[in-house]
Amino acid sequence: MRDLSQHLELLSLNTATVRKQASLDRIIEAAVARGIGLIDPWRDQVHAIGLDKVARHIRDTGVRLSGYCRGGFYTGANAKELAAALDDNRRAIDEAKALDSPCLVLVVGSLPGALSGKPQSIDITLARSQVRDGIAASLDHARSVGMPLAIEPLHPMQAADRACVNTLEQAPDLCDDLDPGRTGALGVALDAYHVWWDPKLAAQIQRAGVGRLLAYHICDWLVPTRDLLNDRGMPGDGVIELKKLRSLVEAAGYQGAVEIEIFSEAWWSRPLEDVLDVCISRYKSIA
Ligand code: ZN
Repeated sequence: MRDLSQHLELLSLNTATVRKQASLDRIIEAAVARGIGLIDPWRDQVHAIGLDKVARHIRDTGVRLSGYCRGGFYTGANAKELAAALDDNRRAIDEAKALDSPCLVLVVGSLPGALSGKPQSIDITLARSQVRDGIAASLDHARSVGMPLAIEPLHPMQAADRACVNTLEQAPDLCDDLDPGRTGALGVALDAYHVWWDPKLAAQIQRAGVGRLLAYHICDWLVPTRDLLNDRGMPGDGVIELKKLRSLVEAAGYQGAVEIEIFSEAWWSRPLEDVLDVCISRYKSIA
């Protein structure tokens, strides 16, 4: 297993971790000043500043992307919504390319309307087939520009509103279906928070293996967890065996970034610089 303690260039900051403290340009400056080598920005943070400006800033500072968040949300209540989702994913792929990201992370979507509290369907099987077809359609454009798509399975507590891909097994299943030749165009973003509990985790990590593990996100599962979305813990504050998990990921061939991604009202209420310093120290000691 790699010794990360001297390798901040492998630490990626998912910029949602400090999204409430600062705009993306300030986050980049603070990360670069600390030697953090990578970021994974969110589309809304990029749009708030402007794609060209962010692309320039990234080139100027030398920071690189470990991923771009996010595409997906492929489901819809009608043909118009399904088409709009494909258009939006096309734009997300182009943005990821403009920022020289190694992949576009996909949160695939689930029951149409559920995210805004008004589900227009309770047919999760239909949602799963829309997701499959949506990814298949996006793959043509993704392949043509050379932007790998990384399917992120989400914890089942988010099965209604955010993603109907909920176990790690489902993601390589989709990859086998849509990219049987393992061309590298389609893979998995493995987020410890979403999959740590899965009894098939080790076997599925091994199965995804080299070429399909495109991203590795970490934080921690707090006990108790008070909010389904925004109560993630800093690595070391919860119950995920992060070192064991990374050893599995690396044994399967993954040599990429370790990305800290924390949605947490508690951490959003602390100063940007403090949060980054804690991220660095936990990355060195816990990740
Ligand atoms: Zn993630």
